Amino acid sequence: MSLISDNLQAVRADIHASAIAAGRDPQHIQLLAVSKTFGADAVIEAATAGQRCFGENYLQEALDKIQQVQAQAPQLVLEWHFIGPIQSNKTRPIAENFAWVHSVDRLKIAQRLSEQRPASLPPLNICLQVNISGEESKSGVLPGEALAMAQQILALPGLKLRGLMAVPEATDDLQQQRLAFRQMQQLSMQMQAAGIALDTLSMGMSSDLHAAIAEGTTMVRIGTAIFGNRNYAK
Ligand SMILES: *Cc1c(COP(=O)(O)O)cnc(C)c1O
Repeated sequence: MSLISDNLQAVRADIHASAIAAGRDPQHIQLLAVSKTFGADAVIEAATAGQRCFGENYLQEALDKIQQVQAQAPQLVLEWHFIGPIQSNKTRPIAENFAWVHSVDRLKIAQRLSEQRPASLPPLNICLQVNISGEESKSGVLPGEALAMAQQILALPGLKLRGLMAVPEATDDLQQQRLAFRQMQQLSMQMQAAGIALDTLSMGMSSDLHAAIAEGTTMVRIGTAIFGNRNYAK
């Protein structure tokens, strides 16, 4: 077996065990494999080992990779998720090439994605990114702005609002990790009580997936634990 398929199997087992320990149904936790900085060959290897959903942060890298995977392995039916920062002049290729966008945090971006979503495709699945730790440098709406933004996104015909996404402040402390994710779950419940239908909490990465699973994540975004350490210099 290849390293990637070993890693994938270990991550799946980890998610399963962690879900059971939290009293949750493992089926309610989707695995998004974050393949940024890794090539089409790595994606094909993971897909051959049964992985279907892939997350990418950098648009040009992602577009090249999607094309290469399609050319090299046309039999694979994959679902691509955009999870990185979005420039407003780059929304069209995102609207045309992805099934999900997790990193929406401005109405203008949402409006452009909606207008540019091809009518031949189903509505683009959207997560609103929330700056849950209130970090100055982080993307995302502040928790207090999420409901109003969600209501405006609901009116956009090319989009389907699915839920919330967060990248909390990095910490090794499990309780701190859990606190941020618990705040996300509470925000999601408040929004649902206000009439917004949401079925997705996109939270948890390689170093905090246990905390995220304990606090109700429905989609973990895992890169390093599947593909290894990233080398940005390449
Ligand atoms: C890179 C990245 C991930 C994956 O992080 P790992 O720590 O490698 O698992 C998840 N989400 C976002 C938004 C990322 O940018």
